[in-house]
Amino acid sequence: MLNVERLCVKKDGEFEVLHECTSAKNAGVNKQERALYEQRTQQNLQKLAMMQEKLYADGKEGVVVILQAMDAAGKDGAVKHVIGALNPQGVDVVSFKQPTKEELAHDYLWRAVRALPTRGKIAIFNRSYYEDVLVVQVHHLEKTYRMAERCIDDDFFEKRYRQIVDFERYLYENSYRVVKIFLNVSKERQKERFLERIDDPAKNWKFSQADLKERAHFESYQKVYRDVIDATAKRDTPWYVVPADQKWLARYCISEILVNTMNEINPEFPELSDEEKAGLAQCRTLLTADSQEEKEKNKK
Ligand code: ATP
Ligand code: MG
Repeated sequence: MLNVERLCVKKDGEFEVLHECTSAKNAGVNKQERALYEQRTQQNLQKLAMMQEKLYADGKEGVVVILQAMDAAGKDGAVKHVIGALNPQGVDVVSFKQPTKEELAHDYLWRAVRALPTRGKIAIFNRSYYEDVLVVQVHHLEKTYRMAERCIDDDFFEKRYRQIVDFERYLYENSYRVVKIFLNVSKERQKERFLERIDDPAKNWKFSQADLKERAHFESYQKVYRDVIDATAKRDTPWYVVPADQKWLARYCISEILVNTMNEINPEFPELSDEEKAGLAQCRTLLTADSQEEKEKNKK
């Protein structure tokens, strides 16, 4: 089976071939093994559910899963799939849309900081502050920002890369894991999925003409994604570039990445102190006495 560590980018440098692949075929995965992959994904999701309970009870580490992708790469489906397996009380899903006026009047990390989970919880960021170096860079939106001129210079995005690396390091050092996943879809497969959305009335709502405008910049996005990932992939806060042309393979990869992250965290149910154990024993005695009393009453 595909080892997701092969999709992991941990430090700046060139992408390896596997990091750029979009399909099962380029990843060396036999499509006939689909059922096996789906079975493994289900097992992973069950494992995740168990580990999530421990993470919550332990409350020592928080997890931020960042999902980035071009339109129609399967982000929403992936969120639904993973979330379906988890206890909703321990998960926050946050979508980063076009910033509001209020958000634009703050620094770009402001809305991300407000969306951070408490330790013990998992937050899934459906898009993230990475949009501030992706869409903003592709369309040069920084030129429209109300900011001091000294801030908008040729190093604008280089500085943001550094700030993001620093921010993620800060989170890591404050007991958070930041796992970044890029769902890498091919331009060809994106076209097929857009056509499906146009042709199937039940999927029309998923399509917007703006998606086509963004598609015209597909190559620019690919280049910018590469730069961003190269600049912000670090050992403790890595990027995973997941082939997204087949949804079953992408979901397998996401489930593996999350299980591996949880294994690294290795959460445990908290160990009770002797005093707490004695307290529990006392409660047990009280409850048993209580039910004896009930029985006596019922007899009468
Ligand atoms: P879907 O289309 O599947 O519902 P989506 O994530 O594409 O999900 P949309 O509402 O279509 O959601 O798109 C959100 C848009 O907001 C994207 O085009 C994204 O690039 C844009 N966006 C997000 N953050 C920023 C930002 N900081 N500055 C500018 N645009 C942003
Ligand atoms: Mg969209």
